[in-house]
Amino acid sequence: MKRIVVLGGAESGVGSAILAKVKNFDVFLSDSGKIADKYKEMLVSYEIPFEEGGHSVEKILNANEVIKSPGIPETVPLVRDIYAHNIPVISEIEFAGRYDSAKKICITGSNGKTTTTTLIYELLKNAGLNVGLGGNIGQSYAYQVATQKHDIYVLELSSFQLDGMYEFKADIAVLMNITPDHLDRYDHKFQNYINAKFRITQNMKPEDCFIFCSDDDVTVANLNKIVIQAKKLPFSQKNKVEQGAYLDKDIMRVKYGESDYEMPIEQISIKGMHNVYNSMAAAITAKVMNITNAKIRETLMQFEGVEHRMEKVLSVGGVMYINDSKATNVNSTWYALESMKTPTVLILGGTDKGNDYGPIKDLVKEKVKAIVCMGVDNKKIHESFEGIVPIVADTLSAKEAVKKCAEVAEDGDTVLLSPCCASFDLFKNYEDRGRQFKEAVREL
Ligand code: ADP
Repeated sequence: MKRIVVLGGAESGVGSAILAKVKNFDVFLSDSGKIADKYKEMLVSYEIPFEEGGHSVEKILNANEVIKSPGIPETVPLVRDIYAHNIPVISEIEFAGRYDSAKKICITGSNGKTTTTTLIYELLKNAGLNVGLGGNIGQSYAYQVATQKHDIYVLELSSFQLDGMYEFKADIAVLMNITPDHLDRYDHKFQNYINAKFRITQNMKPEDCFIFCSDDDVTVANLNKIVIQAKKLPFSQKNKVEQGAYLDKDIMRVKYGESDYEMPIEQISIKGMHNVYNSMAAAITAKVMNITNAKIRETLMQFEGVEHRMEKVLSVGGVMYINDSKATNVNSTWYALESMKTPTVLILGGTDKGNDYGPIKDLVKEKVKAIVCMGVDNKKIHESFEGIVPIVADTLSAKEAVKKCAEVAEDGDTVLLSPCCASFDLFKNYEDRGRQFKEAVREL
C-alpha cells in the first residue's frame, strides 16, 4: 500500500490526510507544533495516526509521497531530508486535483486574491451553480473533494501552494498582480517568487483561459518570456483591450467572444481602484462561465467584501474607522490610501517583512495627518515618515492605538488600520489584529 505522509496538522494538512484515507492510502500526519482540538477530533474520527510537538523521522522517510502544508518552508531540516531521500513533495491542491474532475477556477497574485476569489464564488453561486470555495480560504479543497461533490471549484492559491503543484491544471487561471512579498521564503530573489506565481498557468490548453492584469509590468514582462496555450484575457485601467476588461472613463467594459458587459464603476459596491481590478477579473470569469449580465450586475452591486479588507467598522463622533488589517504589505496599503477621500489617521506597523515605504510617501504626505504606530519596533516607520507627517506616535496595543487615533482625529476624518506589516509581534494573526481593532473602536 502506498504510504502518504502529511506535514502540518491544520486546515490544509488535515483535509489532505482525510482525502488520502478515503482513497485508501496508508496515511500518517506529523506536526512539529500543537494540533488544534478541532483537527485532532477529525483525525481520530477518520482513524488517521498522527503526532504533534515533533517529527519522528523514521515514520516520515518511509513515505512514497509527502504532502506539505503551505506554511512549512522548504528550508526546514526535515523537508531538506525528505528531498535528499528523493521522496516527492507536493501540495494539498496537487493531491486533491488528482481526484477531482470539477472545473477549476484558480486565483493567485500578491494582493486581491481573497476578495476576487470570494467575488467569483458569489457570482457563480448566485447564478445557481453547484460551486465550492477552497484553497487558502475556508474549508480545505482536499476535505471537500473527500466529502462533497461540486461541479466547479473556485480556489485561492498562494505561491506556497503553487510551489508544490506539477500536474494540476486550472481551467481558468487568474493572476491579479505581482509585487515583492514573502521574499524570505524565496531566497530573497524576486524572480523565484514570480516563477512560483506563474505556475498557475502550467499545463493549460488552448480551450482554457488566462486572466491577468496588463497594467502590471512584472506580469507582462514575464508573460512575454513564456509560451501559454490558454486564451489570454487581460484587464486594464489604462488601455483599451479587445478581449478582457478595461476602463472607458468611468465605465467598466468587459468583452468575451461576441458577448459584452458594461457597468459604471460607481455602481460596484466595493470601493477603491484596487477593487475595480478585482471586479474586472471576476466579471471576465463570469462571462467565460456564461453568467448572464443581469446576474453579474446584481452580484457586483450587492457584494459586501470580505472581513478585514477595507471593512467599514463604525463612525464615532463623525470619524469613520476602517479595518484593513489584511494589508500586510506596502502595495496593499498604497491602494487603501489611494481610495481615501478625507484626511486620514493611519495605523501602521507590526512585523516588517523588509518594507520599503518609498511608494506610499506621496500619498501619505497628501492625505495623512498623523501616523499611529502599533508594533514593537517602529524605528523604520519613524525614519521614513518623520518630517513628512506632523505626528508619529508609538502604541503597543489595539486599544492604545485606537485611543490615540480618537485623540487626533476630527469630525470628517477617517482612521485607517492598513499596517503594511504582518501582525505576529503583537497579535496571533491579521484576523486577531482586525478583531481587536474593531472591539476597541466599539468601546470608544
Ligand atoms: P490577498 O488574499 O491577496 O491578501 P485580499 O483580497 O485579502 O488579498 O486583500 C488584501 C489587501 O490588499 C486589502 O486589504 C486591500 O487593501 C489590498 N488589495 C485588495 N485587492 C488589491 C489589488 N487588486 N491590488 C492591490 N491591492 C489590493
